[in-house]
Amino acid sequence: MKLIFLGPPGAGKGTLAVRAVEIVGCPHISTGAIFREAIAAQSALGLKVKAIIDAGKLVDDDTTIELVKERLAQADAQKGYILDGFPRTIPQAQALAQFSVVEKVVNFDIPDSGVLERLGGRRVCRKCGYNFHTVFNKPKVADVCDHCGGEVYTRDDDRPEAVQKRLEVYRAQTAPLIDFYRQQGILVDIDASPMVDEIVVSFKRVLGL
Ligand code: AMP
Repeated sequence: MKLIFLGPPGAGKGTLAVRAVEIVGCPHISTGAIFREAIAAQSALGLKVKAIIDAGKLVDDDTTIELVKERLAQADAQKGYILDGFPRTIPQAQALAQFSVVEKVVNFDIPDSGVLERLGGRRVCRKCGYNFHTVFNKPKVADVCDHCGGEVYTRDDDRPEAVQKRLEVYRAQTAPLIDFYRQQGILVDIDASPMVDEIVVSFKRVLGL
């Protein structure tokens, strides 16, 4: 199934995606995670995008579109994918339509208060990218990932200044995609406020799985 997860930062897209991969049997492709891996590897891409991401701004469309185009051309994405964090602008969505036919867009509906609560406590595994939370989902051993033993840390762009910027950017550049896809008749809404087990149930229901 070819899916997009659309929603503000901290809506729980990555957390649901980890569970949804098992349900739909398609890879989870997160542009943010690809950028963070490039930054950790200090590749040319990583060096180019680090300051932009730390400031909570968007990487340019051309760079991001090319990255996704190459990723979707790989063998594991031929039957389907869960795109998390892409597209984030109308030009990205228009470009995506040129190289892939998206079946459904899952819109994560959550108020700003919920976003701030989640991002304020979010911790991420540096190695596998799994999301934890200081209150709702602590790792069993402090700062150590339950799944791979990697270091659990706070993303630079989860600092309060960057979070405000990311929310502004979301409203100005990404939220218009809700109408863009609703008009195409492929958008489904889920209430993203509950805990992940409940969201998994909504996810299956809205996709008729
Ligand atoms: P995320 O992990 O999805 O919150 O993404 C982290 C950061 O990576 C974003 O705040 C942007 O700086 C950058 N990024 C991720 N996806 C995109 C995209 N589709 N377009 C532009 N920048 C992106």
